[in-house]
Amino acid sequence: MNVVDLLLKLLSFESVTPDDAGSLRFIEEYLDGYEAIYVNKEGVKNLFLTKKFSDGPHLCFAGHVDVVPAGDGWETNPFVPVIKDRNIYARGTQDMKSGVAAFVQAVKDTDHFEGRLSVLLTSDEEGEAKYGTQIMLEHLKEIDLLPESCIVAEPTCEHIFGDAVKVGRRGSINGVIEKHGIQGHAAYPEKATNPIHKVAQVLPLMAGVNLDEGDDYFGPSQFVITDIRAGMEVTNVTPGKLKMMFNVRNSTETSLQDVEDFVHRYFNGMNYDLTLSQSAKPFLTPTDRPVVHAIDQSIQKICGITPKHSTAGGTSDARFIAAYHIDVIEFGVINDTIHAPNERTSIAEVEQLYAVFRDTIANFNA
Ligand SMILES: [Zn+2]
Repeated sequence: MNVVDLLLKLLSFESVTPDDAGSLRFIEEYLDGYEAIYVNKEGVKNLFLTKKFSDGPHLCFAGHVDVVPAGDGWETNPFVPVIKDRNIYARGTQDMKSGVAAFVQAVKDTDHFEGRLSVLLTSDEEGEAKYGTQIMLEHLKEIDLLPESCIVAEPTCEHIFGDAVKVGRRGSINGVIEKHGIQGHAAYPEKATNPIHKVAQVLPLMAGVNLDEGDDYFGPSQFVITDIRAGMEVTNVTPGKLKMMFNVRNSTETSLQDVEDFVHRYFNGMNYDLTLSQSAKPFLTPTDRPVVHAIDQSIQKICGITPKHSTAGGTSDARFIAAYHIDVIEFGVINDTIHAPNERTSIAEVEQLYAVFRDTIANFNA
């Protein structure tokens, strides 16, 4: 099998989250000679395949075999891949069976590596991701088999193949402020405490304000208000409570504590409650790390372009990997049809992605 044959095979598994539909067993058998470790929980299957070639660094490729449901609007059967004009159409072509096929084939075709090579696969990335990559990493920590470097093959490219590598992601902090007041008649404002008037005074100092200036990799972490509500949709009653919701997509420069301090600076002395939660933590892999250097060199060699280092976009399992202080980057095909009907990727991209991973493995220690 070559990488395209392997991709066509993987696409034919109807692996809608969290069902791997047999694809993990198939990959386990395909990579014979690799030790297989399964960690399964709550209907989620996770597979770690690993092989020690010699002493040296531990490089791991990671990805998910699950896909989002097909949805409407397909011109062909989403689980029967079709090749048309050198493109492959099926659910999961971009997100992310092309990436899985590329690194599985690259690993299979590798005879020499100075160190340990591994593959981490989950069937729960598109869902809650609660029993996916996270629990495999917990297990790997227990058995002392965590890698030092990791490449997640999520689709990262924007316009041409090779144009973007993700070296980090912003985090996301959600907040709810409840400002308490005293309800009253609009005609007697002196007898009430109007929370709208109180909040209106500090609003210009908070709305859309940047909590840091950003840097080469992250834009500024902005205080984005998403909802403000109070009152009963009448003109003669001032409300007793105002609720304001906000979100901060934060860089590594701004923490949850910084957001709490920011709110307190303006609401100090006002009767209020604040609820804060962090749904994802930001991370950044410094560009002088071996995995960044290796992938950059290989992209340069295979594609002839220098990729930009990006932290844009939503979250991926890379955030869980980074939490273990593993150097993690993401690189994969163009992502212009992910989760859409008639998802497709080009054969040329899949072949190039395979070539980039092959080269990255070959030159990882160089
Ligand atoms: Zn994905």
